[in-house]
Amino acid sequence: PSPEPFYLKELLLQIESIHLIPSHIQLTLQIEPEDLMLYADPNLIRQVLINLIKNAVQAIGERTGKIHIRAYSTKEEHILIYVSNDGPAIPEKEAEEIFVPFFTTKKEGSGIGLSLSRQIMKLSNGSISLLKPESNGWSTTFVLEFF
Ligand code: ADP
Ligand code: MG
Repeated sequence: PSPEPFYLKELLLQIESIHLIPSHIQLTLQIEPEDLMLYADPNLIRQVLINLIKNAVQAIGERTGKIHIRAYSTKEEHILIYVSNDGPAIPEKEAEEIFVPFFTTKKEGSGIGLSLSRQIMKLSNGSISLLKPESNGWSTTFVLEFF
């Protein structure tokens, strides 16, 4: 990885899949402060965010739904990024399997996105995890943490 400082909001707004989110899905961003900076490889982090956004869009499917991205810095100056969506929750027994390479529940899925994202987060001195459904009011939330 080639880490550099960058504005998270700027990176998010540059992601094409964000602008291609269908209109029956409402996306909201809550980045605090607005000029929150990350020190990481922006190309790798972009890939992680794309994977999470695409999964969220696919999980919502044809329903009316919502995706919410929230980011902030903790007291210890860890950056946390929450990517949440409504739609069917991931069954508890699948919660760890989803990070295993080639695990997919989709007809045409590759099962690569989350395993690659976990590798990227490890290489970025961070982690990715799935919150317990409804622990924050959302059926599905992935958390990226940068230490
Ligand atoms: P793929 O998208 O090709 O299936 P991923 O590694 O991106 O592979 O995801 C693995 C599996 O995790 C998916 O097939 C799906 O079962 C589950 N999953 C990932 N994100 C979500 C989500 N936002 N909502 C529901 N299930 C999800
Ligand atoms: Mg995927």
